[in-house]
Amino acid sequence: MDIEKKVRQTLSKIGLNKNERILVALSGGKDSTVTAYLLKKFDYNIEGFHINLRMGDYSEKCLLAVKRLCKLLEINLHIYDIKKEMGSSMCYLRSAIQSKKSLKNCAICGVIKKWIMNKEVRRLKADKIATGHNLDDEAQTFLMNIFKGSPELSANSGAITRNISDSKFIPRIKPLFYILENDVREYSRDEKLPVVYEKCPCAIDSYRIQVRKFVDGLSSKEKMNIIENMDKMLGKIEKKETKINYCEVCGEPSRNEVCKKCELLKVK
Ligand code: SF4
Ligand SMILES: [Zn+2]
Repeated sequence: MDIEKKVRQTLSKIGLNKNERILVALSGGKDSTVTAYLLKKFDYNIEGFHINLRMGDYSEKCLLAVKRLCKLLEINLHIYDIKKEMGSSMCYLRSAIQSKKSLKNCAICGVIKKWIMNKEVRRLKADKIATGHNLDDEAQTFLMNIFKGSPELSANSGAITRNISDSKFIPRIKPLFYILENDVREYSRDEKLPVVYEKCPCAIDSYRIQVRKFVDGLSSKEKMNIIENMDKMLGKIEKKETKINYCEVCGEPSRNEVCKKCELLKVK
C-alpha cells in the first residue's frame, strides 16, 4: 500500500534503527494509532505512552482505545495520569491559566503535553518519541508560522527534530510527516483499528481552525508542495543549532531561563 511504502521511506530517510527504544505518544486518535500500528508492523521496538488528560468522557474513550490498541499490538503501555501526577485535570489547569492570561486551549495543552512527554520518556529511558503528526498538520503549522511572520519557528520541524542535540532532550520523530490526513483516516478504517474519531471537545483554536479550513480546500498536490518547499527552505536555515538552557524552576530543557510550562503554571 502506498501509505506503508511512504512511511518506510520516511523511516529510512531519518535513519531509524530497529534496536532503538521508541515510545509512541498515543492519544487514541487515528494518527498516533496508525503510527504505532505501522512501526510495529515494520518491526520497530515500540511501547505506548498515553497522557490521561482527565477531560471527562472523551478522555475515558481515548484511554479505552489506547488500551485496546496496545493489547492488539502486544506492546507495553505507560500511562501518565495528569490528575495523579500534577494534581489537576487539564481542564482545571487551563481555566486557572486562562483566568490570568488570554491563551488558546490547544496552546496551553500542547505546551504541557510536550513538557510531560520529554520528561517521562527520558525517565523511561527511551531513545525517541514518535508522534502522529501528518502532512496536513505540518502544512498548517508551517503556514501559521509564515502568517505570523516567523517562519524560523518551523526550523526544528521535520520528520525528525532538527538542530537540537542535548542529553536531556529526547528527539521526536513523525513517521506520518509525508502522509495526507485523508489517507491516514482511510487506512485506519481499512485496518479496523481502535480509534476515537470524534474531535477533542476542547479543540478551540480559531486561528488554527481558519488555517485548517484553508489547507482543507487545497488539492493533495498543493499540500505536498507546501511540505516540499518547507523542507527546502528549512534546509537553508538548518545549520543554526538551537541553544538549549535548563529551566531554572524545573530543570527541563528550555530556550529561555524559565520553560514555557513553568511560565504558564506560575500564574496559578
Ligand atoms: S485538541 Fe487541543 S485541547 Fe484537545 S488534546 Fe489536543 S491540544 Fe489538547
Ligand atoms: Zn520549567
